[in-house]
Amino acid sequence: MNHTRSSALFQQAKAAIPGGVNSPVRAFKSVGADPLFIKKAAGSAIYDEDGNAFVDYVGSWGPMIVGHCHPQVIEAVKRTMDNGASFGAPTEQETILAGMVIEAVPSIEMVRMVSSGTEATMSAIRLARGYTGRDNILKFSGCYHGHADSLLVKAGSGAATFGVPDSPGVPADFAKHTLTAEYNSLDSVRKLVAENKGTIACIIVEPVAGNMGTVPPREGFLEGLREICTNEGIILIFDEVMSGFRVAYGGAQSLFGITPDMTTLGKIIGGGLPVGAFGGKREIMEKLSPSGGIYQAGTLSGNPLAMSAGIATLTLLKQPGFYEKLEEKSRQVAEGIAAAAKTAGYPIYSTRVGSMFCAFFSKNEVHDWPTASACDTKAFATYFLAMLDEGIYLAPSQFETAFVSAAHSDADIEKTIAAAAKCFRLIA
Ligand code: PMP
Repeated sequence: MNHTRSSALFQQAKAAIPGGVNSPVRAFKSVGADPLFIKKAAGSAIYDEDGNAFVDYVGSWGPMIVGHCHPQVIEAVKRTMDNGASFGAPTEQETILAGMVIEAVPSIEMVRMVSSGTEATMSAIRLARGYTGRDNILKFSGCYHGHADSLLVKAGSGAATFGVPDSPGVPADFAKHTLTAEYNSLDSVRKLVAENKGTIACIIVEPVAGNMGTVPPREGFLEGLREICTNEGIILIFDEVMSGFRVAYGGAQSLFGITPDMTTLGKIIGGGLPVGAFGGKREIMEKLSPSGGIYQAGTLSGNPLAMSAGIATLTLLKQPGFYEKLEEKSRQVAEGIAAAAKTAGYPIYSTRVGSMFCAFFSKNEVHDWPTASACDTKAFATYFLAMLDEGIYLAPSQFETAFVSAAHSDADIEKTIAAAAKCFRLIA
């Protein structure tokens, strides 16, 4: 497969942009290649600058659940654009999307829009600290919640891929307020809570971890967190930037029946435009400025284009049977890849929750960061490049999730499984 133009564009980009990319996960550095430069996408297909077509399982890292360029989303954005891109004043669309989010997500009584997932988690934590009057927060190793200072501690996603889970530039005085427990281990949480009694403002968790590969919560884990938080006066924050409207219309909290105090959202609710949101109990949310004293703001927050893309996307997701069909497609592709690995005699550990899935290059089960990080990342890199050559576009890291969209066809799925069979034979 010819990547000449992508590689040339990457050389140019490197001169102007650090590492040639505006977000580290886009680089193919950890798999030893140049990233593809993308020209366009439609439905489940993504096309690079050399004219190659791929079945896309990145989906802009999660937002594109209805597929790329859905006509209803495009139409909504174009119609809004005709009236102006941004006013910095309230618009009706903000209240409409807020209403849809409140209706969908059990724990959210009020919500504020921001422009990224990072802003959502950063603001939610500030609010939790302001509300409780406590400074410490607790997160889990291998979980990623954006790049705010206090969250770049034992972080997943690109921070894990590139070996900088604790980024230089985060003052030790900030990082010391971030306690880190092991995902799926209530014992590790109980220990930290006991050692730091009365000082923890919030526990922030990905209810389905998607930034160390896909790691589902073990039975009882989320329930246990809820119980600990209730008993200790700690705010439970579900970071559903990835899982929100993805694993179910109401997110992981509706799938597992656990109600957090606050929720962060992003990705899907912007339909591919820059959006984040954080919401929760009215009593907590009303502490935000200007109704309360905890400050948070944004020039482009609730941007009309992003709101209209979000409203159009959620409207499509509400159609009867949407998640059932997506579940079936996702089951087929994840099980097909796992079966292909088995037939080739190559051991993988396959995980999936709804349309999020992952093939861990591991003989052992993966339930947390120690087991995820023990995977054979070299073998993954070989697999990734071989799949790319077969026209399958996956995230270029073992520590990421694959996303299925409603636009993936039976033919896409068959092609993906056949490609995986070939690639596993290659590395076995
Ligand atoms: N939280 C989670 C769970 C995420 O997956 C991400 C991004 N992948 C973020 C927060 C940060 O979102 P953003 O990249 O929009 O800042």
